[in-house]
Amino acid sequence: MGSRVLWGDRPESIRLAAEIIRAGGLVAFPTETVYGLGCDALNPDAAAKVFEAKQRPTFDPLIVHLADQAMIETVATSVSPVARRLMDAFWPGPLTLILPKHLSVPDLVTAGLPTVAVRIPDHSVARALIREAGAPVAAPSANPFGYVSPTTAQHVSDGLGDRIDLILDGGPCLLGVESTILSLAGARPELLRPGSLTLEAIQMVIGPVDRATSSQETAHVPGQSPRHYATRTPVTVLPAPRVWPVLRGCERVGLLAMSEPRDLAGQFHAIEVLSPSGDLREAARHLFSMLRKLDALGLDRIYAEPCAEQGLGLAIMDRLRRCATPS
Ligand code: AMP
Ligand code: MG
Repeated sequence: MGSRVLWGDRPESIRLAAEIIRAGGLVAFPTETVYGLGCDALNPDAAAKVFEAKQRPTFDPLIVHLADQAMIETVATSVSPVARRLMDAFWPGPLTLILPKHLSVPDLVTAGLPTVAVRIPDHSVARALIREAGAPVAAPSANPFGYVSPTTAQHVSDGLGDRIDLILDGGPCLLGVESTILSLAGARPELLRPGSLTLEAIQMVIGPVDRATSSQETAHVPGQSPRHYATRTPVTVLPAPRVWPVLRGCERVGLLAMSEPRDLAGQFHAIEVLSPSGDLREAARHLFSMLRKLDALGLDRIYAEPCAEQGLGLAIMDRLRRCATPS
């Protein structure tokens, strides 16, 4: 049996969802990035249920979601001028900041770290839920650990349906790729995970940002394991755009193309095009749902066409590489 799904834009849905959060239950809700699996961030028993439902290892900390900037005092002990500038520029929005943690946040939420990850989602349903619950809401993506993130209520229901109390449906996520994570806990700002907010946009506001350049180097960051966002079908990222693989006739293979592959004969069993016009925003929005579609076909392999690692292309390539890393 699946869990209950309600339209998130109705006040009675928000009231019920907030009651569940306050009572220590789990509610999946839409954000502009992906669907989150939310619980009261200040309740360790509720957080334990999130880890259990997702089968998420407890060394992987959760992001705490706020309804407004005033709420930050309940979860962080200090907000530097740089942090404040970023919050003013990009919140609500897909930027997660790592700040010194307040004692009230349970160690389970932050995986024992002295810091906490926070953001304000740019989605009216998400913010209404947090405001009505009257507490910060800790929420990882609403999918079994390691699998492709959910961008529709149906994805949530497919992966975790019977493990959560309620799903709020807000339609497909507008951005489709997770938030950008920036640490302000060290001497210099450091990009921990590329995401929906581009590095270029952040640098326009605060100047240079350090970044680890490969998934190998970010492996020391909790939760940034090289393999993640992974399909069950093996994925290979092609060496360059428009460089198609030589296929053996007996293999059933799919292609995840960045833009319309005009020059292809019918050698692929299935082709999904992230953006017919080659628009990175559209590509990011479709990335996870198209990976899921191809994954559902029982193919032998999925080939993914790469894009340039600029702007949103940095986050798209990060997700494709992690998906393609062998287990
Ligand atoms: P998600 O899986 O999208 O919910 O994002 C959670 C990720 O945020 C984790 O896997 C970590 O990589 C990162 N994160 C959360 N809290 C912290 C923290 N205190 N310090 C560093 N990274 C964090
Ligand atoms: Mg996740």
